[in-house]
Amino acid sequence: MISEPVRYSEVPLTRETLPERHAAFAGQYSFTESAILARQARRESNARSYPRKIPLALKRAKGIYVEDVEGRVFIDCLAAAGTLVLGHNHPVVVEALESALRSDLPMQTLDLTTPAKEAFVEELFSLLPAGLASRARVQFCGPAGTDAVEAAVKLVKTATRRPTMFAFQGGYHGMSQGALSMMGNLGPKRALAGSLGGVQFLPYPYAYRCPFGLGGEAGEAAGISYIQNLLGDPESGVLTPAGVLVEGVQGEGGVIPCSAGWLARLRELCTEHDVPLILDEVQTGFGRTGKMFSFEHAGITPDVVVLSKALGGGLPLSVVVYDESLDKWQPGAHAGTFRGNQLGMVAGLATLRFIRRERLAEHAEAMGLRLTAHLEHLAKDHPCIGDVRGRGLMLGVEIVQPEQLDARGQPRAGSERASAIQRACLRRGLILELGGRHGSTVRLLPPLIITEAEVDRVAEIFARALADVESAARGPAQA
Ligand code: PMP
Repeated sequence: MISEPVRYSEVPLTRETLPERHAAFAGQYSFTESAILARQARRESNARSYPRKIPLALKRAKGIYVEDVEGRVFIDCLAAAGTLVLGHNHPVVVEALESALRSDLPMQTLDLTTPAKEAFVEELFSLLPAGLASRARVQFCGPAGTDAVEAAVKLVKTATRRPTMFAFQGGYHGMSQGALSMMGNLGPKRALAGSLGGVQFLPYPYAYRCPFGLGGEAGEAAGISYIQNLLGDPESGVLTPAGVLVEGVQGEGGVIPCSAGWLARLRELCTEHDVPLILDEVQTGFGRTGKMFSFEHAGITPDVVVLSKALGGGLPLSVVVYDESLDKWQPGAHAGTFRGNQLGMVAGLATLRFIRRERLAEHAEAMGLRLTAHLEHLAKDHPCIGDVRGRGLMLGVEIVQPEQLDARGQPRAGSERASAIQRACLRRGLILELGGRHGSTVRLLPPLIITEAEVDRVAEIFARALADVESAARGPAQA
């Protein structure tokens, strides 16, 4: 266990000191927040998403803190959707980038190699479990998570010569058309009727709202039995797929972890039926869940691993790492201009080294347990908290309407209350996101460098925000 506080906290920057820093830099901008936001709403696409719920114009950021143009400081538990594992502008990342820029390193090289790329790949392979590293190939993709998902699907389709895929209900893999076709959430797909087909959706072990109405181990066993039947029954009506795509913890789907046993059984089934298992570690990778990769909780080795977000240390970068036996595609089968983002590799190398050296996965595990304990304590007094779940520093609080039951006798999703909690947190200086079914799960994805004191502060703000929302719901007389 690393000692508290982590090295990063030596940087003399706190919620209190941030507004005073970089005053000269701040002077370059003189817009008011409402003016910027109004112009943003006028000029940017109707598809914009986060600004609707987090209406801030951010000026600068350090560690887990961001400051808006009005000088208000927030704790950032969204951290670019879990990308900024070392927080904003971490010194090791800033130093690495500054020195790379001064060295005249080429910025983009397609897939030509450089010493920076070599060092990055070396570090990446050193983090992979030995069984995978010794047989691994890497394909650089450009540059988002969704592109690496596309590459992974092309890879297994080419290698197996099979046309279809298995994916999971509640899964999220990105917004390009192929990745979208493997997404559980129907919202972004509805307007695109006729987009890619050939995807069989499978039940994910979501214990709190078990698709089989069983929950726990019984629910997981039913799910595995169902998949076993699809793969094994010659009359299942479903073709053996090119690959099975799964998240070790479903992130956008509502922070739903699968058990080690379930993932191990899925691995066995894939091996038995000669189907490549693809782990989407875009959000879970590099320590987020308390292990370097989420599949390590189950002690399994996937055939393909999709990586992005933390991989580039905050800059866009994505790769697919896979077993050499799948390396059947032809030269140029997956190309892209921005595969050679050298600054991403430099920032990524600094980040991956820091994660390893400072044992941030273990730290994430400890901080996650601490935050979970706070949230579970809160759940005892607040029936609107239906479930507290997650792994490491990937946590979710499912908000429900305890008094409104559905046909299965389960409390209905508390989407409006979840939104109100998000707004109340923001008013009190905490940025967090919603996800899950009907947007009813409050998601906490802080940078992994968060300290104990900061975890306690996050929990305290969350508790106060919850109290604000409940007193507002009771009405002004009793507030
Ligand atoms: N896979 C997972 C598990 C993700 O969480 C995300 C993004 N949230 C993606 C893929 C897509 O990544 P990107 O947004 O960079 O395309």
